[in-house]
Amino acid sequence: MAETDLFLAEYGSRALESQRMEKQTGRIAPRLDSIRKALPVEMEYRHLGRSGLEVSALSFGSWVTFDNQLDVGKAEECMALAYEHGVNFFDNAEAYAAGESERIMGQALKKLNWSRDSYCVSSKVFWGGKKPTQRRLHRKHVFDACHAALQRLQVDYLDLYFCHRPDPRTPIEETVRAMHHLIQQGKVMYWGTSEWSAVQIMEAHAVAGVHHLTPPTMEQPQYNMLTRDRVEAEYRHVYRSVGLGTTIWSPLASGILTNKYAEGIPSGSRLDLEGFEWLRDRFTDEEGKRKIEKTRKVAAIAAELGTTSAKLAIAWCLKNPNVSTVILGASRTSQLEENLGALEVLPMLTDEVMENLEAALDNKPADEMEF
Ligand code: NDP
Repeated sequence: MAETDLFLAEYGSRALESQRMEKQTGRIAPRLDSIRKALPVEMEYRHLGRSGLEVSALSFGSWVTFDNQLDVGKAEECMALAYEHGVNFFDNAEAYAAGESERIMGQALKKLNWSRDSYCVSSKVFWGGKKPTQRRLHRKHVFDACHAALQRLQVDYLDLYFCHRPDPRTPIEETVRAMHHLIQQGKVMYWGTSEWSAVQIMEAHAVAGVHHLTPPTMEQPQYNMLTRDRVEAEYRHVYRSVGLGTTIWSPLASGILTNKYAEGIPSGSRLDLEGFEWLRDRFTDEEGKRKIEKTRKVAAIAAELGTTSAKLAIAWCLKNPNVSTVILGASRTSQLEENLGALEVLPMLTDEVMENLEAALDNKPADEMEF
């Protein structure tokens, strides 16, 4: 019997026994947190779409944090912690801290000296600089950005390479061909998209099919309790038809789903950072206030389950079978340690708990939603 099953069997029977005892004696039985804490949380590995590659269900990314909040030493600590917990995918992009994030990850990887075949690292191309040659998805920038990322990350190849946004000004065939050639050259293992519409992803597949090129394997969309339509509704047919994998971003909606913004903006938090006023504005208007209200309700459900909002929100993402990996973000090791514990919450997400969460969120995408 798997460790999780053993836990559930023990948890279930002990819970029933506790309820019986409580009824008979009127005394509250001790919580079962001790059993839960004692269990090691085993990492789960999921196929990246239809590919043979298995990525850890929880991965670690560097947006906002690397350079802004984490120097090389702290980045290295976080990456080591993640790797020790079974994380095998580290996400990055040329745009993050204008290349500095990749430089920091490269230096950390060098110091950590892990075997190159034991982890995956990504980059994304779109925003490389201000000049027309330095941005978007034309062949020149796709190639230049890949070579620059390899240098900054100090690796010979990228495992995953994403088109960070769609580029309506470059024919999709040009981008698909450029990605195919990087793969043929051994500089990229798998290529994918980020925030492309279902139609754009299907077009890339159609072009690849006609010209015998490598199609995109995965998409990197935002997905969390507050942003659901694309992953749950728009891509519904794409999973079935081409077996799209997803490496989802902002599982905590930039930290909102931890419920730490319920009473205002804590100093030093992401919404308090200089340069992120645009993000703060999204959560302080009327719509934003409604979202904060939902995080309060989620927090109450988490408390009932004896867990934290962060772990519950991440486990909720993991519950979706179309999610290949949830990319975690953390500005300190204690956050990452907590978030890596989300896997232990997954078995607690029964139909009843999911229904309670659905009622709290009140944002389930409609079946007939059109895009
Ligand atoms: P989250 O939504 O999980 O936000 C992470 C932030 O929330 C942390 O940096 C921290 O911010 C706060 N936080 C995290 N855990 C806790 C905790 N347990 N308690 C309190 N606060 C916590 O993820 P990100 O938005 O960082 O996205 C994750 C990754 O996804 C990125 O690193 C990147 O790799 C990728 N991404 C991709 C995008 C794309 O367009 N393809 C866009 C955005 C992200 P703080 O402490 O500063 O408040």
